[in-house]
Amino acid sequence: MRPPLSSYRRIAAGKVRDLYAVDDDHLLIVTSDRISAYDHILSSEIPDKGRILTAMSLFWFGLLDVPNHLAGDELDPRIPQEVLGRAMVVRTLKMLPVECIARGYLTGSGLTDYQRSGAVCGIALPAGLEEASRLPEPIFTPTTKAELGDHDEAMDFDAVIAAVGQPLADDLRAATLAVYSAGAEHAATRGVILADTKFEFGIDETGALVLADEVLTPDSSRYWAIDGYAPGRVQPSFDKQFVRNWLTGPESGWDRAGDTPPPPLPDDVVAATRDRYIDAYERISGKDFDAWPKP
Ligand code: ATP
Ligand code: MG
Repeated sequence: MRPPLSSYRRIAAGKVRDLYAVDDDHLLIVTSDRISAYDHILSSEIPDKGRILTAMSLFWFGLLDVPNHLAGDELDPRIPQEVLGRAMVVRTLKMLPVECIARGYLTGSGLTDYQRSGAVCGIALPAGLEEASRLPEPIFTPTTKAELGDHDEAMDFDAVIAAVGQPLADDLRAATLAVYSAGAEHAATRGVILADTKFEFGIDETGALVLADEVLTPDSSRYWAIDGYAPGRVQPSFDKQFVRNWLTGPESGWDRAGDTPPPPLPDDVVAATRDRYIDAYERISGKDFDAWPKP
């Protein structure tokens, strides 16, 4: 018999995920079907998104050759039946106060920094780069981990040293770039560009650096299809493009610049988005999502 979710104490609720204490050294991370777009959590959910993202994180943890926080697999007996498939049991770590971002391509806040200063997080880049340009080599562009409601702020490498000390800062940068490169290399064999991604690391009781949180999911990464990739314009997002197009198109009646929340998504947009998430998982992992556990 699996324990009911109500037997665990909820210790944190993020926008998309909830954290429960399993015991003194373990957490249960439960991923919901909520979706964000343009900095809003939408009122519509994408059915199975939590299971798809969990499947993807577990696939990547298995593929990547670095210590990670998993304390069991997707069928671990500590996972309650009601969240089966969208939860993982992990070791409780001392999390480091740095969001470790790696970028292989220039877009988003990285592009904004570059256009203002010619550099991203203090890393000077060649002139003439544009939206979605591939960088000469992947770069480490950390940010602070903001409190709820705040925006993360860019950190230069000296700020990372100030936050965690020089040896750990060096290790974080090396690990971030190594994991990004391994992920990007695998994704490329599947026809997908891993443009950038965010990792979180923690320290375990032996003092070792451990990869934590979710990894290389569409919520923490930008994936683009290699087919149709063309620098100089914003690349369509692999998974959320239907949502974004609909929200900013004429049908939604929503003003992105205004202060009203986005309207609920029509059923066909929800269904198409769900299909894209499943497609992303199956493409990248080579596995069949039908086989993934459910309650
Ligand atoms: P947001 O909704 O903006 O992402 P958030 O980052 O606070 O908010 P989540 O990402 O949903 O919320 O929650 C995951 C939290 O769990 C993060 O604060 C992350 O640092 C933490 N975390 C992930 N793995 C571990 C771990 N192994 N040990 C301790 N904390 C962890
Ligand atoms: Mg988070």
